[in-house]
Amino acid sequence: MSNKKDILEKDLLSEIDREKLFSEIQDNQMGESAKKNFLDNIMNNYFLDNDNFNFLEDNGIKIWEFSENENCICLEPKKYKDCCQLKLQPKRNENYISMVESLESNDSYNEYIKKMKHSFDKEIENFIKIGSCSFFDCHEKLVKSNLWDEKNFFDEEFFSALRQNVFDTRFTMGTTFFNKVDPKIFDYYGFCKEHSQIVSNNHLKISSSNDHEKILTLNFAIIAFKYYFAKNTYQVMYDEYINNYLSIEKIGHKAMMVFRLRKVINNLKEIKINFFEIQKALQKQDCSSFEFTDFDMKNQNNFVVRDIVQFAITPKNFTVINSVNNPFKKDLIAFMNVLVINKKTVVSFMHLKSSTELNDYFKEWKELNLEKKVDWETWISNNALILTDGILLNFKKWNDFNTEEKVLFSALNKFRFENPQPGQEYLKMKFFAGFNKGNNFF
Ligand SMILES: [Zn+2]
Ligand SMILES: [Zn+2]
Repeated sequence: MSNKKDILEKDLLSEIDREKLFSEIQDNQMGESAKKNFLDNIMNNYFLDNDNFNFLEDNGIKIWEFSENENCICLEPKKYKDCCQLKLQPKRNENYISMVESLESNDSYNEYIKKMKHSFDKEIENFIKIGSCSFFDCHEKLVKSNLWDEKNFFDEEFFSALRQNVFDTRFTMGTTFFNKVDPKIFDYYGFCKEHSQIVSNNHLKISSSNDHEKILTLNFAIIAFKYYFAKNTYQVMYDEYINNYLSIEKIGHKAMMVFRLRKVINNLKEIKINFFEIQKALQKQDCSSFEFTDFDMKNQNNFVVRDIVQFAITPKNFTVINSVNNPFKKDLIAFMNVLVINKKTVVSFMHLKSSTELNDYFKEWKELNLEKKVDWETWISNNALILTDGILLNFKKWNDFNTEEKVLFSALNKFRFENPQPGQEYLKMKFFAGFNKGNNFF
């Protein structure tokens, strides 16, 4: 086996005429169509390395700053140079400390995230004041909803890595991030009083994974919840950029600010697409634009999920769905519900049929299941642990884990898109081992 691999690698290497390649690049004789293909490939890479970044920069594609001719960061159909670039505050703000600078000490970091949270809360006040219900044609005022409003749900204790402050994304390897869940974390404003009831599972009473219309309605609550956080997070980071970008001295710190804003914009765009598609589907009472993947599993009391998921790659052909560090790859989201109802676990995934990558993702996993290379219990458990923000583990289950497991699960839950770093390779290895062998929460 390893011989075969060696030979293959050797052949591939001998195929490459390094001298020729080098002189082509040096003379910039790469044809326009070849260059375009190469760029397209980089744009769809799962992980961009320094060479990719350099190639993009050399070809006039900026990652670390917004370029004049790209679509504006305010999402208006204008060029950046004609719109928000003109709004950049020229006056230096001496007191401003960027996120990267704030990492130097606990105090400055805490001050940074406190300030951001303060702006976020102010943004929300405004959102509640001017916003109206998400239902089509409903102009009623927003009321406070809770994503998990099933009666007595929080009589049980759940543990999760969710944090109250959305800007608090610093996690340290080797520590445990799961804490007892405060139900307030699931409060949001997205609906009027009447529609807030209609989208709640308390009212829907989903009893099986093929209740597609009910699941679509529950997913409307999920996307309204996500939209509420994504829109306001984006707004705070947009204001931070406009007001302080020119005050930052170090190029690297400026770059990080742009990079983070690009990621947030990508995410917001995809959330908006799904928000409006669900709104439309509910209005027409037709969920045919969505694909559902259903499971009715055995009863368990260990975990529940009500969230969106961002898969990374398809398991057989390794098609990239979402990237860890490529801000040019557009986000693709699916919905994931794990609900415990009537002595069984209802598991439902939903995604837009127009996304071929997501269609392939489910198709390929189903093939692997038929080939007996994966079983659904571990697959669902791992998707919930690794790809959702809000897996809620029952406290009893959580307490059954030993310290090493708690640390590993914490890291798997958090080191995904935001924090690519060297430790990730180790975690990935552990993760893939777990995917085939264990991490089964059923
Ligand atoms: Zn703009
Ligand atoms: Zn309404």
